[in-house]
Amino acid sequence: MSTPPNTAAAFSLPGPPNLARTLRTRPPGGAVPGLRYRPAAPADPEKAEEIDRRLEAWARQLDLFPAQWTGDFTQFQFGRAVVLQHPGAADLERLTVAGKLLLAENIVDNCYCEEDEGRGGAHRGLGGRLIMAQSALDPLHGTPELEEEWRHGVQADGPLHSYHWALKDYAALATPSQTDRFVQDIARLHLGDLSPTDRVFDAGCGRGGGSVVAHLRYGCHADGATISAKQADFANGQARKRGIDDKVRYHHRNMLDTGFTPGAYAASWNNESTMYVELDLLFAEHARLLRRGGRYVTITGCYNDAYGRASREVSLINAHYICDIHPRSEYFRAMARNRLVPVHVEDLTEAALPYWELRREADHLVTGIEDTFLTAYRNGSFQYLLIAAERV
Ligand code: SAM
Repeated sequence: MSTPPNTAAAFSLPGPPNLARTLRTRPPGGAVPGLRYRPAAPADPEKAEEIDRRLEAWARQLDLFPAQWTGDFTQFQFGRAVVLQHPGAADLERLTVAGKLLLAENIVDNCYCEEDEGRGGAHRGLGGRLIMAQSALDPLHGTPELEEEWRHGVQADGPLHSYHWALKDYAALATPSQTDRFVQDIARLHLGDLSPTDRVFDAGCGRGGGSVVAHLRYGCHADGATISAKQADFANGQARKRGIDDKVRYHHRNMLDTGFTPGAYAASWNNESTMYVELDLLFAEHARLLRRGGRYVTITGCYNDAYGRASREVSLINAHYICDIHPRSEYFRAMARNRLVPVHVEDLTEAALPYWELRREADHLVTGIEDTFLTAYRNGSFQYLLIAAERV
């Protein structure tokens, strides 16, 4: 055994400075030891004023805010913030574009997210609104009629409007890859983190739309599974037509036993397909496929335990679709048994009502089950839920 050194110098090992000691002796202000220090260049007040003037004119021209918000704008000092963020480097055109993006981000935050701002922000339904905001940057791919409706929709309010136009201006100055990166960053900010090397699993994928959307938004790989060979063939054909079949693939397989690689998936979901299978078997397969920290999401109809057993309407829906709707409680029990910890639950029942009301009016969509859905949702026996969980 060696003798312990007994001089202070012997303890002076190479490595990072002792932050605690230097912080204690450091005069206030200046560099924090161990961190890169770049003294802040004061914002050029003329530039800041000019950016504010341009942004205010832009906001007014696009009608981004209601009149009663005038004044809030100057308080925030967007011009100063942007000039400070880009000291000395960017010209006025670029600073203005950066200011527009900053402004758009703030409108989304104020109007959609922050409840105490009193501008309509709310945590209920926030996911949906952020996806809308994201879609202002990331064009919808659908039928020509749907795309037309979407184009109209993204001009519907200040947040969507501002994002839409700020990005158009940004794209005029930036390279295509910079624009792409920006859209990806905002997608991540709004929707969570998925990158082009990640893989997602679309369980009970139907004709495959969910995987296409995920790939177009994140560039990720997607594997869909359906028990219908016809659906898998159709979906693979669509992927080929879109030229994304190198990353988006559909498999004619049982989602309870996919044979896919364990732990290979960053995210997985079931959209309206959990009622066809036993939840324990399904969640065991998701837990097997997801990496630790991966995200599982389901959107599903379930019956409400608080109401009692499955109602008459729920039984009719089961018979109509030849499925077996589970009680709400069973989702959480089965998740807990399979290393899936719920992180977000949203009751989408109310938001689903207009769909069923409209569908009742559309001759080509009516199947005779519409009124049963509406009664079940309204009498509280049936709920349309989103459950997001983390694989632990
Ligand atoms: N998720 C799709 C969507 O949002 O359009 C389709 C939903 S559709 C109501 C239900 C889907 O679940 C069908 O595609 C069906 O083939 C699939 N499904 C049911 N049981 C399955 C199983 N054991 N394995 C794979 N897919 C299954």
